Amino acid sequence: MTLTEKILARAAGKTRVQAGDNVWVNADVLMTHDVCGPGTIGVFKREFGKTAKVWDRQRVVIIPDHYIFTADSNSNRNVNILRDFSKEQGLPYFYDVIDDPNGTWKFDPGQGLLKKQYGSTYAGVCHTALPAKGHTRPGEILFGTDSHTCMAGAFNQFATGIGNTDAGFVMGTGKLLIKVPETMRFRLEGKLQRGVMAKDIILHCIGEIGFDGATYRAMQFDGSGVRSLSIDDRMTIANMAIEAGGKNAIFEFDARTQEYVDARVKLNGTKSSYEPVEPDREQKFIYELVVDLDKLEPTVACHPDPGQRKKAKDMDLKLDRAYIGSCTGGKTSDFVEFAQVLRGKRVSIDTFGVPATPDIVRDLQSTRWGDKTIWQILLEAGVRMTENAGCAACLGGPVDTFGRINQPGLKCISATNRNFPGRMGDKESQVFLASPATVAASAITGRITDPREYLAN
Ligand code: SF4
Repeated sequence: MTLTEKILARAAGKTRVQAGDNVWVNADVLMTHDVCGPGTIGVFKREFGKTAKVWDRQRVVIIPDHYIFTADSNSNRNVNILRDFSKEQGLPYFYDVIDDPNGTWKFDPGQGLLKKQYGSTYAGVCHTALPAKGHTRPGEILFGTDSHTCMAGAFNQFATGIGNTDAGFVMGTGKLLIKVPETMRFRLEGKLQRGVMAKDIILHCIGEIGFDGATYRAMQFDGSGVRSLSIDDRMTIANMAIEAGGKNAIFEFDARTQEYVDARVKLNGTKSSYEPVEPDREQKFIYELVVDLDKLEPTVACHPDPGQRKKAKDMDLKLDRAYIGSCTGGKTSDFVEFAQVLRGKRVSIDTFGVPATPDIVRDLQSTRWGDKTIWQILLEAGVRMTENAGCAACLGGPVDTFGRINQPGLKCISATNRNFPGRMGDKESQVFLASPATVAASAITGRITDPREYLAN
């Protein structure tokens, strides 16, 4: 069996499953957020009754992160619905925007968009926060009401996005019927060269198969090249499986996975036991691709979909803005690479920086390079950095969202993960996906630029 089949077999209480089987699996964690949470709660109450209790308080994780720093009253209200529900159910893992459990969330635009407005429990973007808060464990099943839930496949976990109806059912029963996906194998060999990042790996793979090339399939990333990839790298890759239509992504378990997971569950006091799955000698793949990491170059996914692959060095496209942020591209390591290119230079186009979580804001504001923090280096380079960690303009959002593209025709290079028309705001705008290094080099020149020339020295 493949890694995905092994996890699904175990969760279904079977010794064996194969692609195409329909099996009932037990969920380990259900995650929802401010966009889909209220709808999920509505389905749950409608189907299970107004006084129903969730199937397991310890396994429901609620992370508001999408439309938070906006004056839009309906968006603010969604956070308040999540708080009321978490209180009613006694949920221990609700990462509220404010500290007062009896308060209400209301964003204050008078304070501006840059200074933080959240309390101590706020966790930021759900997919980045879930592992950091100790909710991802190897061998487990994670369902989330968000398509990029597949990011947790980095931890040798079956993680996939589901709709509100399915999530309402999981909330009440802890179970879901799943068709076992076929598995595509991406065998990574070698090591990335300087200036080439994990984002380039996944943009390369999606470019090979197209934005629907993995529809309802598992994308398994293995091979000796994985050993050199950090946990953040693996998260970036797994995150974008859905951009090829993938049901899930999955990585093998190794010492790095163990070290990361053990540290996070200990720090947060979450469940510490887990059982990874190891690869079988016999695995059946529907597709195999060997990726030589040494040969990869900075890559861009052009408008209008993530499969439109080009090499950055082959492009000469004038840009209007640059953006770094999101679950995929707003991690500390992403900002470090971004800052390495920008250090001592200035951006020539509007450039926005949105860390994925408050912890990442703290990392950037406390890590010093010489006499300056990374945060200061980015501000001096002309990047508009906000402390209000979250999804922000990754998916457009209400018109007052920080970094949202509000004018037609703008071309933006972005470290995010999705570039279908209108994704970051105006439906006539164009988004080009790239690594944080490529975004930084392009922000300097105002054109899509290979970052390696800025890292040579
Ligand atoms: S950062 Fe973007 S991709 Fe990630 S969860 Fe938020 S909206 Fe979705």
